[in-house]
Amino acid sequence: MPKPRPTIAIAGLGIESSTFSPARTNAPAFHPHRGPEVLTRYPFLAPGTPLRESATWQGALVGKALPGGTVTAAAFTELTDELLTRLGELGPVDGLWYDIHGAMTVEGMDDAESLLLTRIRETVGPTTLISTSMDLHGNVSRDLVHQSDLITCYRMAPHEDAMDTKERAARNLVDLLTRGAPRPVKAWIPVPVLLAGEQTSTRIEPAKSVYAAVADVEATEGVTDAAIWVGYAWADEPRNRAAVVVTGASEPQVRAGAEQLARGFWEARHDFEFVARTGTLADCLDEALASTARPYFISDTGDNPTAGGAGDVTWGLQQVLERPEFKDESGPTVIYASLPGPAAVETAVEAGVGATVTVTAGAEVDGRHAGPLTLTGVVHSIRHGDRDAETEVVLRVGSVHVILTRLRKPYHHEHDFTDLELDPRSADLVLVKIGYLEPELFAMAADWKMALTPGGVDQDLERLGHHRIRRPMFPFDRDMPAPDLTARVIAPSDEPLSGPDE
Ligand SMILES: [Zn+2]
Repeated sequence: MPKPRPTIAIAGLGIESSTFSPARTNAPAFHPHRGPEVLTRYPFLAPGTPLRESATWQGALVGKALPGGTVTAAAFTELTDELLTRLGELGPVDGLWYDIHGAMTVEGMDDAESLLLTRIRETVGPTTLISTSMDLHGNVSRDLVHQSDLITCYRMAPHEDAMDTKERAARNLVDLLTRGAPRPVKAWIPVPVLLAGEQTSTRIEPAKSVYAAVADVEATEGVTDAAIWVGYAWADEPRNRAAVVVTGASEPQVRAGAEQLARGFWEARHDFEFVARTGTLADCLDEALASTARPYFISDTGDNPTAGGAGDVTWGLQQVLERPEFKDESGPTVIYASLPGPAAVETAVEAGVGATVTVTAGAEVDGRHAGPLTLTGVVHSIRHGDRDAETEVVLRVGSVHVILTRLRKPYHHEHDFTDLELDPRSADLVLVKIGYLEPELFAMAADWKMALTPGGVDQDLERLGHHRIRRPMFPFDRDMPAPDLTARVIAPSDEPLSGPDE
């Protein structure tokens, strides 16, 4: 039945959490928005926008955490109980937009987003239409597709289209409800490939072409949406792998579209390469020092906090500080971002800018690769009030400007550095705990190399030690037989789930 102005709830929890990191994620890390404030997360739902006016939007609870370690069972219970209570209090809703990342691991459970959606379904009832939006680094089980009526993900990595994707998920849901259209047909195909995000940037081939085909499929008559998930490589659950879902009114078209996209991904599997040149950290430092390109960026990838690293691995910084080239203040200007060390930050703040201090930082959460690091240097700057780091301090050790933080923080923007009286543009070397460079840093880098360093998000997947993923899986089983890439049409969410998770 058409609903001229449907009522739509918004709910979800987003994180990607590495099961290869000893870190744990607690409830406050999700910075939850509740009730009407949920709408403020989305510019396309600002008052007066067409989408805002097309429905009655009701926020339940939406939280998003920085990538990190496994979510504690207590945090998951606390957040989901509140989410479900708030959702129940909203009363009947025609639709629900499920805004998630899709790579949340929770202590003692598999497929957490699907379990949460089961409980959401129990709360809103079987007739409510659900549209799920995800990161392309999320994982898509048969059950998650079954319980969603529409499901999609980003088409760009780096995720420049994150808001576009969320808007599309919300708009397609409004459209479905206002037209009173039947529940869409969903074709799902799991693709037995597990790749690092840094091998699948859509800026370069083959991901560029693989993802370009998504828009072509979406433009087909009878198709509403099409999506390819790379999946998340740093969790060890049976659901971790790539997947394709195409949704729409026409079963033959969604089947054909899904099979085309799945084939495209599978056939390109040998061609996915790291988005930048890679090497050991020592190789990267040698090349950077020999190069005239300035600033020269090096990604310290194994402990990337935006992929789920603990952020406090000291291995990379230790290698940098051991280099003779940086021992003296007159050496090449190096910026290293970053290392959490609450006690070190406190000491530096007490001493003040200009003071020389000796502090110890890092390896409190992930000390598997190197122990806490003791540094003697001059306090270059101090900044309070950051949302993630809370307090940041720059300590100059020889010619290395080390950013120390109270809590871990990603460094993605130029102002993250200039706020600390650092000028990455005039630096010789900039080392960042990151994978592929975020757009502002990418634009700034005269050259760039990714160091394959140890940590909770080690990019060398085959040395990580997965035990629970499905096998065979590329690249773990490099010569595996061709998989079944025929479309699995998943029953509508109000019918029983059928078929194995294959
Ligand atoms: Zn992602």
